[in-house]
Amino acid sequence: MKLVKTTHDGVEGDAYRCQNCKMTIFTQDQALIFGRKLQQKLLKEKYIKKPVKIGNSYGIIFPRDIVKVFNLDSGKTTLDIRMDKAKSKIEITVL
Ligand SMILES: [Zn+2]
Repeated sequence: MKLVKTTHDGVEGDAYRCQNCKMTIFTQDQALIFGRKLQQKLLKEKYIKKPVKIGNSYGIIFPRDIVKVFNLDSGKTTLDIRMDKAKSKIEITVL
């Protein structure tokens, strides 16, 4: 087995290739890293959204790609929201 760089769907990652049959194999760690890179590729670099009025409050609508990649529809996902008024920043971390 030889450590190689392999490309699938425009995403490059480490893998092992058998010298004899040329089969490419991912270890579990390599597959996880590759999967994350692939998911990251699904996302745009940034999204510009307007706040949406919901009752007396406001929310933001997450695009489908973000919902998929971060499992926002799992029902178990919690968001950690932190504000920095000086930097006009609202930071959302998926827990
Ligand atoms: Zn082989």
